[in-house]
Amino acid sequence: MSYNQHFEHLLKRHQLKRTEARLRVLSLLVNKKTATSQPDLESVIGDVDRVTLYRILSAFEEKGIIHKVFDLNGTANYAICADDCDEHHHHDEHLHFNCSNCKNVYCLDELDMPPIVLPAGFKLEKLSFSAVGLCPKCLNK
Ligand SMILES: [Zn+2]
Ligand SMILES: [Zn+2]
Ligand SMILES: [Zn+2]
Repeated sequence: MSYNQHFEHLLKRHQLKRTEARLRVLSLLVNKKTATSQPDLESVIGDVDRVTLYRILSAFEEKGIIHKVFDLNGTANYAICADDCDEHHHHDEHLHFNCSNCKNVYCLDELDMPPIVLPAGFKLEKLSFSAVGLCPKCLNK
């Protein structure tokens, strides 16, 4: 399957109409280890205006295609979700590693996180793990 077919399939599965701008956003986010901020997307995406981009990101987040994670500056960054995220539930309970040097946020979804068992009477709605440190790129400088 070509990239574009894959993205079209993804949009269809989430009942989103195929638009050039949506495909472009997907192509920028897929296969990245790090999350991308809206300003960074804006600077590389070409002629997609800010409002359109914002709407695309909100729609993708709502549909379970991307998840939002804040970096150390408090800026929202976006990363592609695992396949099991959907419109009603996100399952992005992987570790988000914040590099204190380059400020990149890494989705470390290959790590197994320990199961969390809450005391009786608590109902879990959202769980997030984050870590701060140096990424391999910055460490080897
Ligand atoms: Zn998700
Ligand atoms: Zn770094
Ligand atoms: Zn993530």
